[in-house]
Amino acid sequence: MATPAEVAQFRTVQRDLVTLALAALARWWAGLDLRSAAEARSAVPAMVAFTGGLTRMYGESAALAAADWYEELRSQAGVRGRFRARMADPAPREQVEAVTRWAAGPLFTERPDPAPVLRNLSGGVQRLVLQPARETVADSVEADPADARWARVPSGAKTCAFCRLLASRGAVYHSEESAGGLARSYHGLCDCVPTPVWPGEEEPYDVDALLEEYTEARAKAGGNPKAILAQMRADLGIN
Ligand SMILES: [Zn+2]
Repeated sequence: MATPAEVAQFRTVQRDLVTLALAALARWWAGLDLRSAAEARSAVPAMVAFTGGLTRMYGESAALAAADWYEELRSQAGVRGRFRARMADPAPREQVEAVTRWAAGPLFTERPDPAPVLRNLSGGVQRLVLQPARETVADSVEADPADARWARVPSGAKTCAFCRLLASRGAVYHSEESAGGLARSYHGLCDCVPTPVWPGEEEPYDVDALLEEYTEARAKAGGNPKAILAQMRADLGIN
């Protein structure tokens, strides 16, 4: 079973890759000429190209680390039979382009403002660098003949209501359908780690406590998922 320490260690490896990517982004950003709105806007294609290179390079490393991690945990779990983890591809070009163009939105307003663009872009780069690692775990679980599941393990100081809700279900995520395409549903600054769990193993975090939180919010708010999330945000003082 993945211990909380092993999840934290993997998380550190992933966070370090994000840190390197964001430092490269900030350095490159500092060299851009954004003095006029026209210059800022004409820099968007270069932003797309740079973000693409960055998320490809660091995304590949993230996926490789996730594949190693998966195989290590699997061998620890004592699962029979050989299996190679499925390494996911870096974020596709169209997705990188869509995220970058969204991030650059504040350059296209009446008073163009570059500051939020770097913030948006940093969140997007973090998500896209981690995406191939998260997909590597989800795809490997899917392909693993040993009936693996994955759990969304919260990490970091604060975990948002949406992630807590998904984490409260424990290690139930298997196919894309059962997870509702959740292998990609992470917000920019999300720290959660999809973690494989094999039959007979327990999740490396307190699922019951999160389920209790969810059940309490549901009792107050009713069955509507949006209302439940709002209730959790109000009760727990989180996003
Ligand atoms: Zn999260």
